[in-house]
Amino acid sequence: MAQTKKPPFSKYASVIVDLAIDKMLDYGIPEEHLDSIKKGTHVRVAVRGRLHNGYVYSTQEQSNYPRVLPIHEVLSKEELITESLFELALWMGKYYSTPFRQVLKVMLPASVRKSIAAKQQYYVTRLSGMEALRKASADLRHSYPAQSKVLDQLLMTKKGILLTELLEKAGVTRSPVETLVRKKLLHLDIIRLDRSPLVGEEYFQTKPKLLNEQQKQAFEKIVQSLEAKEFATHLLYGITGSGKTEVYLQAIDRALSLGLGAIMLVPEISLTAQTIEQFRSRFEGKIAILHHRLSQGERFDEWHRIRRGEAKIAIGPRSAVFCPMQNLGLLIVDEEHDSAYKQTDEMPCYHARDIAVMRAKMESGTVILGSATPSLESYHNAQSGKYILSKLSSRVQTATLPTVTLVDMNKEYEKAKGYTSFSDALIGRIKKRIALGEQTILFLNRRGYHSSLICRGCGHLFNCPHCDLTLTFHFNENTLSCHLCSHTLSPPPSTCPQCHAHETLKYRGVGTEQIERALHAVLPEVRTLRIDGDTTRHKGSHERLFRSFSTGKSDVLIGTQMIAKGLHFPSVTLVAVIGCDGSLHIPDFRSSEQVFQLITQVSGRSGRGELPGEVIIQTQMPENTTILTAAKQDFEHFFASEMPLRETFGFPPYTHFIKYTFSSDDAQLAQEIGGRFRQQLIARLDKNGKAYVVHPLVPSGYAKIKDRFRFQFLVRGKEVYPVNREVEKILQTFLLPRKVSLSIDVDPLSTFF
Ligand code: ADP
Ligand code: ZN
Repeated sequence: MAQTKKPPFSKYASVIVDLAIDKMLDYGIPEEHLDSIKKGTHVRVAVRGRLHNGYVYSTQEQSNYPRVLPIHEVLSKEELITESLFELALWMGKYYSTPFRQVLKVMLPASVRKSIAAKQQYYVTRLSGMEALRKASADLRHSYPAQSKVLDQLLMTKKGILLTELLEKAGVTRSPVETLVRKKLLHLDIIRLDRSPLVGEEYFQTKPKLLNEQQKQAFEKIVQSLEAKEFATHLLYGITGSGKTEVYLQAIDRALSLGLGAIMLVPEISLTAQTIEQFRSRFEGKIAILHHRLSQGERFDEWHRIRRGEAKIAIGPRSAVFCPMQNLGLLIVDEEHDSAYKQTDEMPCYHARDIAVMRAKMESGTVILGSATPSLESYHNAQSGKYILSKLSSRVQTATLPTVTLVDMNKEYEKAKGYTSFSDALIGRIKKRIALGEQTILFLNRRGYHSSLICRGCGHLFNCPHCDLTLTFHFNENTLSCHLCSHTLSPPPSTCPQCHAHETLKYRGVGTEQIERALHAVLPEVRTLRIDGDTTRHKGSHERLFRSFSTGKSDVLIGTQMIAKGLHFPSVTLVAVIGCDGSLHIPDFRSSEQVFQLITQVSGRSGRGELPGEVIIQTQMPENTTILTAAKQDFEHFFASEMPLRETFGFPPYTHFIKYTFSSDDAQLAQEIGGRFRQQLIARLDKNGKAYVVHPLVPSGYAKIKDRFRFQFLVRGKEVYPVNREVEKILQTFLLPRKVSLSIDVDPLSTFF
């Protein structure tokens, strides 16, 4: 009997190797790893004599290659990425035209990828009483100031403090702490630190509310999907204040009792503090909050708490959609229309809402997309039957929708014989609110004092030297600064650098800072609070400002879109949109939709409690359909008027856009490379007939940011994958100079910037 030659390995793995371009190579699986290697296992393999990391894509009995090397090392004993998340990453790479390893970068927090071990930490507590410490500190102040400083820090803490934090705060080394421990004044303990940011806080447990008829209907449909454990997407379209959050809470509760995990996405943690409080108080101890301000260590701990199944609910911003929730059953995307769900600054430019739907599809989960102003894409999907639609059309309990007044600012300018920020109607109503002790919110889309400085003599405009943007004047800081790169001129120039004339410089445009001052000029007694990018730079400042307003410490809150999101202040009875006409002039197919959302959301902050609310919208375009429908909070009317335009012009959701942006400090080079790339793509897409429109290469809306020039072109068509496949082929040979970077944005939010 002829002896067949035994192949060297009984099993093989195809590995995606961590190289610049995705490359799949076969390796043999050594006997001792036969059980541990499966889809997604992190391994180390040799490629042309050098070791690289990679992930197992699949395993099989044979290899098509005659000679393969063994897998060099298995890197993760614990599985870093579950099989289903691995599948999701593969899909993302294909859909968002992004190399696999770059996808993994957004999927796994850096701390997890680099495996920062759960930290052992020292914790310092008081061993003697407060009085004794106070006395000791005073005694040591001159002889041993370092010890005295340590004691002062301990006197300020409730129970104790981490050693690392103590050393940092007191500005001392470890030695004075150790001395104090020897003197039996302090105590030093080793703890395995659970860095969970929730520890130590207590909440009033809240009980589920009795759902009203519409909430109940929505809830029951969701429960059906949860119990069936079949993929389904629910669009919960409920006007502002209609009780969507209560539906989320009860849906999560049901998921937990079915043994399923839940992920809830919120646009921005710091702006949704109120919503999160509600979740903490309902589900204390079961929640992991994936705050973007968590330290690497904290992130690591939260991630592993979820992976181990200790936290069954995860709440976080867009990246939380990737958390390793076990037995995932429910994914909620609150304010699903919000642009914060889209990653734009780095590839993959993913949209967390779309990822949530895809992930649920792969894991047979239920999705709830909630909004008072659904994205046109989602509502379109609901109408076509792809999503299950539930409507909440009235506010809960006694709260009713506010009455809205449109004020034609053209007439106000005539009356005032020039520009004015406040109409008479608005001032009158603010006065009334102050007299009644009720609160007002003023919304303006722009921070700063003036939005530009121009020379009336020669027309010179003060632009940022590094960016394609005018500099904004800030009154309090007395600076001109760039909102793209923070370049700052301080103090602002008083003569024109071009024509050298004096007293010809003129400020233009109004920002929130000026609105605040102007309001004080009209109503000297008014107490104001401003929330925008300038007043919320420090950690915790959002929360502080919001709390200050909700406890009635001011009459009027002035802010940018930060105040439009999900806030619930029952004593706000007047909301005014000072101006947002400008946004309608941005040449982008989504600008109407964005203005509609903004006005509706801001208006929704009025009259959420027992008191009826009022809204004033100041505009120079009182006949504009977007403004009219937003004033009525009439989403369906807006949808019906906007969709035919999208269809006629072939815009999403009827097509997809893909945006290719080339940036470099060398403008000419970026343009040349972009042009060459575009030509190659045209040549390849031509064989698809007229299926794709390739737009011309143009400077981006911001043609320069931080000294990098930017050129872009758009491809539009019904499908994404065929374009991505051609792009992948081009990139295998295309020489992208080191100085030029290419960013690919599939389904971009903006086709202009
Ligand atoms: P939305 O998320 O739709 O803007 P919320 O969920 O914030 O609305 O609800 C607005 C207010 O109504 C909240 O204070 C909430 O506690 C309350 N609420 C919601 N549902 C009910 C209900 N079924 N019964 C009583 N109060 C409710
Ligand atoms: Zn700049």
